[in-house]
Amino acid sequence: MKYDVIIVGAGPSGIFTALELVRQNSNKKVLMIEQGRSIDRRYCPKEKTKKCVSCKPYCHITTGFSGAGAFSDGKLSLSYEVGGDLPNLIGADKAQELIEYTDKIYLEFGADKKVEGLENTEAVKEIRKKAIEAGLKLVDCPIRHLGTEKAQEIYLKIQKYLLDSGIEIKFDTVVEDIIIEEKTAKGVRISDSETKKNKEDLYADTIVVSTGRKGADWLKDMCIKHDISHCAGTVDIGVRVEIRNEIMEKVNNVLYESKLIGYPAPFKNKVRTFCQNPGGFVSQENYDNNLAIVNGHSYKERKSDNTNLAILSSHNFSEPFNQPIEYGKKVAELVNMLGNGRILVQRYGDILDGKRTWQKELDQINIKHTLPDAVAGDLTSAIPYRPMVNILNFIKAMNVVVPGFAGMETLLYGPEIKFYSNKINLNEKFDTNIKGLHCLGDSSGWTRGLMMASLMGVRMGKILES
Ligand SMILES: Cc1cc2nc3c(=O)[nH]c(=O)nc-3n(C[C@H](O)[C@H](O)[C@H](O)COP(=O)(O)OP(=O)(O)OC[C@H]3O[C@@H](n4cnc5c(N)ncnc54)[C@H](O)[C@@H]3O)c2cc1C
Repeated sequence: MKYDVIIVGAGPSGIFTALELVRQNSNKKVLMIEQGRSIDRRYCPKEKTKKCVSCKPYCHITTGFSGAGAFSDGKLSLSYEVGGDLPNLIGADKAQELIEYTDKIYLEFGADKKVEGLENTEAVKEIRKKAIEAGLKLVDCPIRHLGTEKAQEIYLKIQKYLLDSGIEIKFDTVVEDIIIEEKTAKGVRISDSETKKNKEDLYADTIVVSTGRKGADWLKDMCIKHDISHCAGTVDIGVRVEIRNEIMEKVNNVLYESKLIGYPAPFKNKVRTFCQNPGGFVSQENYDNNLAIVNGHSYKERKSDNTNLAILSSHNFSEPFNQPIEYGKKVAELVNMLGNGRILVQRYGDILDGKRTWQKELDQINIKHTLPDAVAGDLTSAIPYRPMVNILNFIKAMNVVVPGFAGMETLLYGPEIKFYSNKINLNEKFDTNIKGLHCLGDSSGWTRGLMMASLMGVRMGKILES
């Protein structure tokens, strides 16, 4: 079977490639291949079981049409300064122009018209003053919040639109290998996701790989096997913090999401807040290698009494070791081991007191934690000294901006690790060193969020049709 374009992975970057081809009235024969289910069949059993049951062969939170976007908080960051390094590749002005174009597409499919973080300039000034006092940079970033339940509705509409427009999508199908001959991409080898049976080779002139954080490890293996030019990127090691809404009220109301960056002493690594969810819920995602990773999201309607956000510490390696994904995996394995395969949670005060947290102590505090199957324990025994010190010193700085942030009962969940650390060497047309092979989104190492991944797809669609 021969196609013009095969898109591997139906996350936002893959979806928006197909969507833009349709919008450009392309005659190309396009196939999308997705390891998981169609969005209408995606379901996390935890809704019923209340506990993560580690779904096999894959986690429904990260896998299926719309990728990690479906169960995400659906916060579209509307500034080129947020969401990855793509502006370094295509230019800041181009990136901002594409954000506006892509945002309009989300609006056409029903995104909320309200943009957070545009008003309250006096209140923003106050927050910035405190950030400066604390040695932190406040990044201006308007946010369009889809909300978890609305994000699913929007992606369902996009799925229907693509299918109605003649885009072929093979669900429950995994791409095992890319067929490359003489430095030219020829096609892909597929099989059933669940059984790994029914292997088949499919051919196309253009292969677009958009496999997300979930597929970053697989793509790294492909790079090694087929000599696809790549380099080691940054690994982000961190925790998810959960506190009462009362503490975060001002920042939540004024900015919705505070994007703060610092370089705390003594190591001066970049440490930042990420993915803030007012009234949100802490969540768990599972990777193929059985790693349990913490995350967070929030609904548009259903709200908790807490706010959660990630604090991520960025690390690079050079020599003799330059395998950031492997490093992140080892840290996650250690934290998972101490949690007996579950997410660990510890009170900030217990870390300062040099002790683990016990389950009964979680029941004594004001915060009713929103990840009930997390297990109380000791993160400091598993997270390496450097990222741990970075996180603790950043929390102290955050306390200047948000008094009470470094409260004794503030909860820290781990591990929160971002596996986008293999970076594919691309030019501004997203060409790799292999003819006909393009890489997009989080798996390419150039994006870290919904908007950047989506706009990378839009630009890919435009390039393919030009
Ligand atoms: C709980 C949660 C909350 C989040 N909240 C936000 C937020 O509020 N704002 C924000 O900007 N970002 C958020 N993110 C991150 C955001 O979802 C991702 O940055 C974005 O989805 C990346 O898009 P992508 O297309 O690169 O990859 P993905 O969305 O990860 O999609 C990749 C797809 O490829 C498929 N795939 C992988 N390997 C293969 C293979 N070999 N064969 C076939 N298919 C394959 C996967 O099943 C998946 O569906 C959140 C993520 C999570 C998990």
